[in-house]
Amino acid sequence: AAKEAGKGQYASYHPDLDERAHYDAQLGAELRLAMERGEFRLLFQPVVRLPDRHPVGAEALVRWDHPSRGVVSPDEFIPAAERTGLIVPLGAWVLQEACRTAADWLHGHGATGPWTVSVNISARQLREAHFSRRVSAALAASRLPAERLMIELTETAVFDSRAAAQTLREIADLGVAIALDDFGTGHSSLGLLRNIPVSVLKVDKSFIDHITESPAEATIATAVVSLANGLDLGVVAEGVESAAQARQLHLMGYQLSQGYHFARPMAPERVRDLLVALDGRPAADGPLLERQ
Ligand code: C2E
Ligand code: MG
Ligand code: MG
Ligand code: MG
Repeated sequence: AAKEAGKGQYASYHPDLDERAHYDAQLGAELRLAMERGEFRLLFQPVVRLPDRHPVGAEALVRWDHPSRGVVSPDEFIPAAERTGLIVPLGAWVLQEACRTAADWLHGHGATGPWTVSVNISARQLREAHFSRRVSAALAASRLPAERLMIELTETAVFDSRAAAQTLREIADLGVAIALDDFGTGHSSLGLLRNIPVSVLKVDKSFIDHITESPAEATIATAVVSLANGLDLGVVAEGVESAAQARQLHLMGYQLSQGYHFARPMAPERVRDLLVALDGRPAADGPLLERQ
């Protein structure tokens, strides 16, 4: 029937599926090899306080140092890693590596200020049996206190996983903070806030991009910060690229922010130096991050 349909949707659908399956199988095999070879590494992007830019955390963002293609961004391989299931071992590595790195900032370098490290978690990882045990094991192995860790989940990841609410409660009970990432782009945002122990909303870049020129966009961004404040949640504006945005976000009541305007994802040693330099300094010391 698909053939008869000629240019109909099925006729064009099958080759796409085949292509994707082929692409996934190939990339899956490559990713497996890359894990064995240790080709992944983490960068960390500071989360800063408005308006003084003091780092209050850092988000771990995975990179693949491909032997011939150079640095591959996660948008190019995380979706395939999710479809092939490789995200489970890769995500476990990211979690362990982020905890180990952050524990070194804390115990090895004396960065004892009030910062957290955040790790992105896929739906597939959340669906794993005993995912909360993986989290507690990563904390125990690294000696990172649970209060230093935040996990980031999208609304869709939480929504897709029936076991999520229970798993997330176990994780929250450990003392780990839970952030809803890309907030506003998934579904059922408001119901989720009631059912899972969220402590931070990360407002997606797409809601931040046009706040300075569009009153409608500014209204949405203001509504989210008011929602967060009312529910006593932390709120982070993602993808801030300009001083004008940062100023406006501060006026709207945003206290935390992340974006190229403040800092790009950077090597762990650089974040470590920022956090170490911060210790014992009064907040009024001014910007620790240079403008980009
Ligand atoms: P995300 O978790 O929403 O992370 C934020 C992304 O926005 C990062 O891209 C960051 O580099 C980028 N970004 C931050 N500030 C700005 C800005 O001002 N302008 C622009 N244009 N971009 C900005 P990155 O590192 O390429 O990661 C993309 C996505 O890949 C992440 O989005 C996350 O969903 C996923 N990802 C990254 N690392 C991991 C991981 O270890 N595990 C999983 N499951 N997903 C990951
Ligand atoms: Mg994230
Ligand atoms: Mg995000
Ligand atoms: Mg994102």
